[in-house]
Amino acid sequence: MASKVLIVEDERAIVEILKFNLAREGYETLEALDGETGLALGRAADPDLILLDVMLPKLGGFEICKTLRSEGITVPILMLTAREEENDKVFGLEAGADDYITKPFSMRELMARVRANIRRRALDAAPAGPDTPAGLSLDPDHYAAAKNGAAVELTQKEFDLLRFLMQAPGKVFSREELMEKVWNYGYFGDMRTVDVTVRRLREKIEDDPGKPRYIMTRRGVGYYFAQ
Ligand code: CA
Repeated sequence: MASKVLIVEDERAIVEILKFNLAREGYETLEALDGETGLALGRAADPDLILLDVMLPKLGGFEICKTLRSEGITVPILMLTAREEENDKVFGLEAGADDYITKPFSMRELMARVRANIRRRALDAAPAGPDTPAGLSLDPDHYAAAKNGAAVELTQKEFDLLRFLMQAPGKVFSREELMEKVWNYGYFGDMRTVDVTVRRLREKIEDDPGKPRYIMTRRGVGYYFAQ
């Protein structure tokens, strides 16, 4: 079955070129030319990935992203941002996006990111054990986690990152390694994506995100799951 990509973008020319390139690689596409329609389709159409513009009529991309996440919708979201400001990039990640790409983007890079995000979703890596000594458990079928029995909602990328780290407790992974293994990116990635996703994950699973017990930082090296 073809994976379905929802394009939320108000510039018709960009929508058309995205549709053309996605269709050529076998993806089904849906489009929304304003934010309200985008939010409605994001909720109802069950896309496998959302390409989400930031500046949109009626409802902005950050707002859509936050709303979908607050409703427990975990679909990978790739923000399309025209802005160069560093804060805007991080703001999209804080809003729950999995990544962003800055306009004007190269179609090759965009397609690589689409493939990487959809492949991650479909990929079932070796699951972490159903229970860990740390009291966290993962449910790979539902991209859900539980902490001491209480459900914790995670985005797919947060889930993938947590699962990846939990597979090798104590082993330190550099940001570059995580970018490559969890995001499947290689050189396209931006290391802040890793840092912000770790921060979001800590806010969800740690009792005190400032003093993490699960996802640990090895200063100057990277991150690891506590043993
Ligand atoms: Ca726009």
